[in-house]
Amino acid sequence: FSSLELTDHYIKRIDALDSKINSFITHTSETARAQAKAADEMRAQGDNRLLLGVPMAHKDIFCTQGVLTTCGSKMLHNFVSPYNATIVSNIDKAGMISLGKLNMDEFAMGSDNSSSYYGTVQNPWNLERVPGGSSGGSAAAIAAGFVPVATGSDTGGSIRQPASFCGLTGIKPTYGRVSRFGMIAYASSLDQAGSMGRSAKDCAYLLQPMIGHDPLDGTSIKHDIPDYIQDIEDAEAAAGDKPFAHLRIGVAKEYFANGLDSEVEQAVRAALKKYEELGATIVEVNITNPDITLSTYYMLAPAEASSNLSRFDGVRFGYRCENPKDLIDLYTRSRSEGFGPEVQRRILTGTYALSAGYFDAYYTKAQKVRRLIVKDFDDAFANCDVIASPTAPTAAYKLAEDLDPATMYLGDVYTIAVNLAGLPALSQPVGLTSDGLPIGLQLIGKHWHESELLSTAHLFQ
Ligand code: GLN
Repeated sequence: FSSLELTDHYIKRIDALDSKINSFITHTSETARAQAKAADEMRAQGDNRLLLGVPMAHKDIFCTQGVLTTCGSKMLHNFVSPYNATIVSNIDKAGMISLGKLNMDEFAMGSDNSSSYYGTVQNPWNLERVPGGSSGGSAAAIAAGFVPVATGSDTGGSIRQPASFCGLTGIKPTYGRVSRFGMIAYASSLDQAGSMGRSAKDCAYLLQPMIGHDPLDGTSIKHDIPDYIQDIEDAEAAAGDKPFAHLRIGVAKEYFANGLDSEVEQAVRAALKKYEELGATIVEVNITNPDITLSTYYMLAPAEASSNLSRFDGVRFGYRCENPKDLIDLYTRSRSEGFGPEVQRRILTGTYALSAGYFDAYYTKAQKVRRLIVKDFDDAFANCDVIASPTAPTAAYKLAEDLDPATMYLGDVYTIAVNLAGLPALSQPVGLTSDGLPIGLQLIGKHWHESELLSTAHLFQ
């Protein structure tokens, strides 16, 4: 079939069903159809780019030239970006076609898509459940069959946890692997873009054009560029009936502690057993107590956010309050009216942690603990190749208006350490609860070892 047929198929499905899911904030169907026609012509003339004419969609955190970019916020309800994020240009260059911009928690702060100004997103597996977050629109759109793959961003789990809740695979690469240029910043030292899809291989297809050094991002790192698909195929060719004979999987008891749902635990342990049957060796490792990691993350991420979000002042772009009486009133009302409650909470916590009297007690202390978390991972990786854990303590839950923020933060307990250490990690589906909801297993890799994670998940599937 042609790219136009494929694109039309997805557009029809979105038009018919997204009113139930709410995964898209902006549709770019007309441009997409024109691009699909052009892609078919290019293909006919011998253009053999692998991804030419393949549809996808972007989380609305990535700047897209000439297309509304809201970051899930009223603050940016009218922001049409004048430039593309580097990953958006890279994916364009690969020939892929974007069908639009996907719903997300406001400024990527959240774990269930409830903080979006554009409304909650329903989980296609069960419309009463959340899709996870903050890349909940991305996950729901793939799970509903609206796009084969989508981009996401992950500051503390926002790719892996929604992938887990929606029965998908999602990968957060090594920090510095993918350019952050044009990705609206939440916590710059933790943010990393990645890919989500129905399988590890689909993730690899989309991740490939995203990676590489970008002079426009000072934290982007020059490193060898692997060929993820080739690596997966090589791994497949080399695999006998014990494909994981050389794989040492680290398992930490800290990742199976209080708060872990018993069905999630069972599914994850069963998956580990299957890994073992397929040749893997399970070794016990120690990682930092997740409670400590959680406090460290929820100190540092809001601190960085409070600084990053100071640019939304009602003057330069985005929402501006009506009839401000002076400059202070303009700042105050634009920010109070433009930001939702979760974002305001983070800004307040972050500003507090960075304020003169408390900086050393909170921010500096958290940075020191961050070093220890990194060291614990280094020590653990001396004895294993990957570390496995549940992705989230529960499967997708029902949206609760009164869910208190601290309880929601607890749901990030297994994913955030990875961001603090800058490591790559993916979530892969490993079963269903008795209610038929997907369960995810997290695989954490050494720096730059995305290929190993993708190949491992692929061979397991
Ligand atoms: N749920 C976490 C938070 O709210 C992670 C979000 C993310 O990875 N963007 O900070």
